[in-house]
Amino acid sequence: MKLTPTKYIWMDGKFKLWKDATVHLITHTLHYGAGSFEGIRFYDTPNGTAVFRLQDHIKRLFYSSGVIGLKIPFTQKQVCDATVELLRKNKTKSGYIRPISWYGEGHMGLDPSGAPVNIAIACWPWGAYLAAETIRVMTSSFIRIHPKSTRSDAKINGHYFNSVEAVLEVKKAGYDEALFLDFEGNVAEGSGENIFMVKNGVLITPALGSILSGLTRDAVMSLAKDLGYKVVEKKFKLADLYKADEVFLTGTAAEIVPVRVIDKKTIAGWKERPVTRALDKAFKAVISGENRKYKKWLTYIK
Ligand code: PMP
Repeated sequence: MKLTPTKYIWMDGKFKLWKDATVHLITHTLHYGAGSFEGIRFYDTPNGTAVFRLQDHIKRLFYSSGVIGLKIPFTQKQVCDATVELLRKNKTKSGYIRPISWYGEGHMGLDPSGAPVNIAIACWPWGAYLAAETIRVMTSSFIRIHPKSTRSDAKINGHYFNSVEAVLEVKKAGYDEALFLDFEGNVAEGSGENIFMVKNGVLITPALGSILSGLTRDAVMSLAKDLGYKVVEKKFKLADLYKADEVFLTGTAAEIVPVRVIDKKTIAGWKERPVTRALDKAFKAVISGENRKYKKWLTYIK
């Protein structure tokens, strides 16, 4: 997906021009994938630009960095403040933010000890991630990374080859997005989204264990409870998913995306999808600042 550059990128405490925010070839993370990153959205609301769940995303960035022993030389608050300042300087009203921390130049070999630690934040305008209003999903022949192979609940750069490979596979077959099963054959998540199904008015989503603990997943679970739906986190199989009344994916980039087809099977209630529509409406009320209960999730750029 081609993106439109903004003017500045924050890198190691300084604002650099987009074109100058580069890294050296001998950058540890480029070779071995031991970096961590986040994806955050910011929205144009009636009260100005607002970042959704900034502190929670930065907290997860620090958690993921900690998993690979990477000590970010800033506090979470400093990184949040730098994000706000970046949006202010770039004057972008809505879009996507990419904080990233990595092991830098001059150290090779798998042990990153002693390598310099770098951190940067970029942002750019970004519309819908999955272009269609409803999507067709294919189960990948690759499984989601095994939770005993890596700390699969962290957002580590190298983990994403698993997703890239699955996306390449399903796009080749003409589908919009990949679905992973876990190592036990349970439904896990999308390449960059969590998954929910609705059955008889109950929302069911895979329990944590093999998936990323998505912040949109968390938001949707809260909103569903507010709307009076029962939410269950449990293991389930593809056969259950095929029989669901509604299925949708959730993620920062994708937001809430209704699924029409999974592996050639049409989801019965994809067109009406009353629960998905209600949740989408509720989510929009949160990100626009209309729902005051969740105003703590919005950081306004003044
Ligand atoms: N799973 C994976 C593998 C992801 O990359 C993402 C995107 N961060 C998600 C789920 C959704 O997480 P969130 O709602 O926090 O963006």
